[in-house]
Amino acid sequence: MIIALRKETPREERERLINWLESYGVRTHLSEGEYQTIIGLVGDTTRIDTDLISGLDIVESVTRISEPFKKANRKFHPDDTVISVAEGTAFGGGQFQFIAGPCSVESEDQMETVAEAVKKSGAGILRGGAFKPRTSPYDFQGLHEEGIRILLETKRRTGLPIITEIMDIGHLPLFENVDIIQVGARNMQNFELLKELGRIDKPILLKRGLANNIKELLMSAEYIMAGGNERVILCERGVRTFETYTRNTLDLSAVAVLHELSHLPVVVDPSHATGHARYVRPMALAAAACGADGLMIEVHNDPPHALCDGPQSLTPEQFDDVARSVRKVLAALKGD
Ligand code: PEP
Ligand code: MN
Repeated sequence: MIIALRKETPREERERLINWLESYGVRTHLSEGEYQTIIGLVGDTTRIDTDLISGLDIVESVTRISEPFKKANRKFHPDDTVISVAEGTAFGGGQFQFIAGPCSVESEDQMETVAEAVKKSGAGILRGGAFKPRTSPYDFQGLHEEGIRILLETKRRTGLPIITEIMDIGHLPLFENVDIIQVGARNMQNFELLKELGRIDKPILLKRGLANNIKELLMSAEYIMAGGNERVILCERGVRTFETYTRNTLDLSAVAVLHELSHLPVVVDPSHATGHARYVRPMALAAAACGADGLMIEVHNDPPHALCDGPQSLTPEQFDDVARSVRKVLAALKGD
């Protein structure tokens, strides 16, 4: 971090600032030029609030040189992180995963039908929401504990690892046998939830918030990792823009940027990104082509009657077709 001081800053005030900065355990380097005085900070500056410093009368500007996210940063961990979910199922390091299943768990029959179908098509992980974050309190809120029970039963029958969303940390005991815990877009900055998930040893799929930038997504990953849980999978699911033909705007550049900045695996969700089943295929292919480590796709056995997100859900047949085409893209990238 570099702090430029205003001209004619009294020496005592400068010394007071330096002492305060050093109380955070960083080293300071003073450079007194003819026109400007600069304080350079070396060490871990993550706990230093740049807004507080730039608000001081004696400070002209503050520039962060290193990113505030450390554990998620590729500079400190050059190799891709590989997150193993179950035997033979991992994210990152060149392994590609399909997560597929309905938006919400609705019944045992529905889950079994979808799970068997997506498994045959190559899905490695089954999704299904038991606690649903709905905009309207009058909409289907999920089957809660019963939904988790059905997911676990489907996992037992099919052998597919499961992912489901947590909304309240008080529900954590229910997630004991869930393989990946999802933090949805609406909770990306629920920092108390993130801190608690940092204390457990289970993969967390962290979705990008509706209006959050890439740095904020990485800072949320940092919250989980700072607590000791480094098994974080990032998920790009589109952000809200002025566009209305799609539910959100899928930011595929985030995949490339996240891979550059971080060693964590990046998954793309073209279902919530576009909101329409017919756009899922082209966006899934594009996501695979730009280097995503996996896809999360909503699949329902009867989309017109789905209790949540039917219009963006693929039928099992459509999913099979998408999965085949994605594998062709992946093979082409490898030069097979
Ligand atoms: C979901 O995956 O079911 C979901 C609610 O997604 P998001 O948090 O991205 O809206
Ligand atoms: Mn959904």
